[in-house]
Amino acid sequence: MERIKLGISTCLLGENVRYDGGHKLDRFLTDTLGQCIEYVPVCPEVECGLDVPRESMHLESNPDSPRIVTIRTKQDMTDRMVQWARKRVAELEKEDLCGFIFKSDSPSSGMERIRVYNEKGVPVKKGVGIFARIFMDHFPLLPVEDEGRLHDPELRENFIERIFTLKRWREVLSKKESRGNVVDFHTRHKLLILSHSPKYYQTMGNLVARAKDLPLKDLYQQYQTLLMESLQLKTTPKKNANVLQHMMGYFRGQLSSDEKQELLEVTDFYRKGYIPLIVPITLINHYVRKYDRPCLKQQVYLNPHLLELQLRNHA
Ligand code: SF4
Repeated sequence: MERIKLGISTCLLGENVRYDGGHKLDRFLTDTLGQCIEYVPVCPEVECGLDVPRESMHLESNPDSPRIVTIRTKQDMTDRMVQWARKRVAELEKEDLCGFIFKSDSPSSGMERIRVYNEKGVPVKKGVGIFARIFMDHFPLLPVEDEGRLHDPELRENFIERIFTLKRWREVLSKKESRGNVVDFHTRHKLLILSHSPKYYQTMGNLVARAKDLPLKDLYQQYQTLLMESLQLKTTPKKNANVLQHMMGYFRGQLSSDEKQELLEVTDFYRKGYIPLIVPITLINHYVRKYDRPCLKQQVYLNPHLLELQLRNHA
């Protein structure tokens, strides 16, 4: 797979673009995730023409449509940044991004819970950075996260799963449109979808089953929307245990009673939080090879990302 393209707040790459002339290098993003990502850096404050260093800014007024204002001299930078941001998101359409990693707590780049000050100088953590809001409105289905949330192993895993899946879906989009390509993609991803939402698994299964009755354009559009919506829902140990049990059904009559017992035990330990998901997944992968189950071999759920990202390793 070619590298996945992600937008990123420039300071997270170690560039000295912050108001104080510094940066916020995040080594996981550059050294680990960076192995399979091509980053497209965006610094709203510098790209809209502000200097480094510069006076720091914050959001104020209405949390739903705040203004971005310099803290000491009270210059309102909102119109300048909005004008630039509208042009920038239009340019980013050409980049084929699979997501964006924002800098947390920034009045320009933060995606959630940014402080917005009222006229008495009291903050409420309900704002969205000026550029981040325009970006997310423009690309509502693109996976987005901030570097702070990506320290949480579950949120990190979910984000990585979504960007990898979107990249594979884009590969389908780059080929000639055909029902067969959608069906094939769905067949490989159905257990991944089940791990996020049994409801979407059913809805998407129904959509694919009546693929031949739908105009191709509608099929692609509906499938893409459902895919991105489904993966936004978090997996849980209970949902994953359900998928693991579902997979046991594929070995009907093949697993010995010891093997079955071991798999049930390991799945139960995982569900209770004693061991990470990678343990039952590794065991199932072993049985898939041993009993040659082609329908499971192709499941993205069993082998979703690069080993170096060390996902599914937390209990
Ligand atoms: S948080 Fe955003 S605006 Fe601030 S320095 Fe980083 S990229 Fe630039």
